[in-house]
Formats: sequence, structure tokens, C-alpha cells
Amino acid sequence: MQTVTTIREMQAIVRAGRRGSGILGLVPTMGALHEGHLSLVRAARARCTHVIATIFVNPLQFGPNEDFSRYPRTFERDVELLTDEGVDWLFAPSAEEMYPVGAQTTVDVPELGARLDGASRPGHFRGVATVVSKLFHITQPDLAFFGQKDAAQVAVLRRMVKDLNFPLELVVCPTVREADGLALSSRNRYLNEEERSRALVLSRALRKAEALAATGTPAMLRDAMLSEFESTDGVRVDYAAVVDPDTLLDVSDLSQGALLAVAAWVGNTRLIDNLLLPAREV
Ligand code: AMP
Repeated sequence: MQTVTTIREMQAIVRAGRRGSGILGLVPTMGALHEGHLSLVRAARARCTHVIATIFVNPLQFGPNEDFSRYPRTFERDVELLTDEGVDWLFAPSAEEMYPVGAQTTVDVPELGARLDGASRPGHFRGVATVVSKLFHITQPDLAFFGQKDAAQVAVLRRMVKDLNFPLELVVCPTVREADGLALSSRNRYLNEEERSRALVLSRALRKAEALAATGTPAMLRDAMLSEFESTDGVRVDYAAVVDPDTLLDVSDLSQGALLAVAAWVGNTRLIDNLLLPAREV
């Protein structure tokens, strides 16, 4: 695997490769890699001739009081993992390389970007849409791999790809979980032992709601999730939503399926999780 830190060099590599045939895959990450990230890399490896992974902790998607400066950075280990998975190029630019002095153009998906996580993290999805469109321009992938774990991010990026006519396909891969149900996240490293066990409330709430899906209404599912959070000490719910996975708006019935999405603070750590309900059989 070759590590590339400048945009100019990454563009030169992509341009040289473009002359041949083949499918180029992109796996964007913020590093601190775990099995969730590696599942995206494996999916990319399976479908693409060449794979570019990126590691960039994007300052633009963190709010002023968020965890940008303490976000886990495990670069050397990440390089080993990506090498073992057969990634061809790691693009790992500095913040100055991605946002040189004077940069001011951003990409905004204003309505979707203000829903779910966007409601409690103003500007977050502008940061995500901006960095992902820059990565798409720099690497020009045929397929770009993202995790269902970040369901609102998927909705925002799908819209952006359509609206800005990026000539690529988004591939969304299932959420990878620990054996006890906790969705893997780089932020799980922040949790102490007690918080780690409290964090199970997210997946538990989703499963409770899922169990009601055959007969319940969206309001019943929402209430079931909220009561699960309320009965867990040391946890503050941010949202528990039953929404359309494309619009992120509340659904009025479950016949066409729905996205169950939750976010909560466990101590000082904000965690998210979700589950897709299939359309009801008629
Ligand atoms: P991040 O490094 O947190 O920005 O995540 C990079 C990519 O990995 C995003 O597309 C995430 O949705 C995806 N991802 C993170 N956690 C998981 C997981 N547990 N299962 C599947 N994909 C994940």
C-alpha cells in the first residue's frame, strides 16, 4: 500500500490509472479503524480492481465544543490494518492540504442536513458533504463505500450525489456490531466499563421497537425506544426517531418500512445507532 499525503500526487495516480479499464473504489474514514471500517474495505476489495482508503479527521464536521482535538488517532495501526486488507492507496492529507488558507467553498444539503444528527450538530453535515465531495473530486471513484451505521450521513450523501451529478455509485454496507449488540464506533474507545454496559441501551431500544413493528404504530415504537432510554441511568437521549430513510422525516405508518434511529449521550460520549425496518408484507 502506498500512502499519499498530497492532493496533487493522488490526482496524478488516479489520472494514470484512468487510462486502463477497471473499477476504482473509495472508502473514506476518519481513522481509528475497527472491524466496521474493515468491512467496507472488504466490500470494496470484492467489487473493485483498485481501492483507495482515506484517513482524514475533518475539522469542518466538528462543532466548536465537540471532540475534534481528542478524537482517537491510531495512524500506524491503521496503516497496518489497511495494508493487510490489500488496499492499494491510503490518502491521508493534512488539514492544511485539504483546507488551505483562503478556502471558502462548501457543499450544503440544507434540509436533510438539518435533520437527526444535523439538528443537534449544526454544520456537521455541511462539513461531511464538503469533505466527501472534495474526496470524490480528488479520487474520482466508480464506487464509494459507506456504513449504514451513519444513516443520516447516507441520506445526505445520496442526495448530494444526485444533486451534483457525481458519476459514481454509493454502496452502503451493514452495521458491524459487537457480540452483545453494541455498534462498533471509534468513539466506543471513550467509554469506561460502566458506560460501555450502559451504551447497550441504544441497540436494546432499537430491538424493542423492532419487536413492535409488525403491529405497532410509529408513535408506539418511538415511545418504546424513549422509555428504554428513560429507564437507563447515566444516559441522555438526543433523539429516538421513526423516519423515512431518504427524507429523514417522521413516517405516519410502517407499511413501506422505516428507519429506526437513535442518538444518546452516554456520559460525555455521543453515540448513534439505527435499524432499517423492511416494508410490511401485505
Ligand atoms: P468514520 O471513520 O466514523 O467517519 O467512519 C467511516 C465509515 O465507516 C463511514 O462510512 C461509517 O458509516 C462506517 N462505519 C463506522 N462504523 C461502522 C460500523 N459499525 N459498521 C459499518 N460501517 C461503519
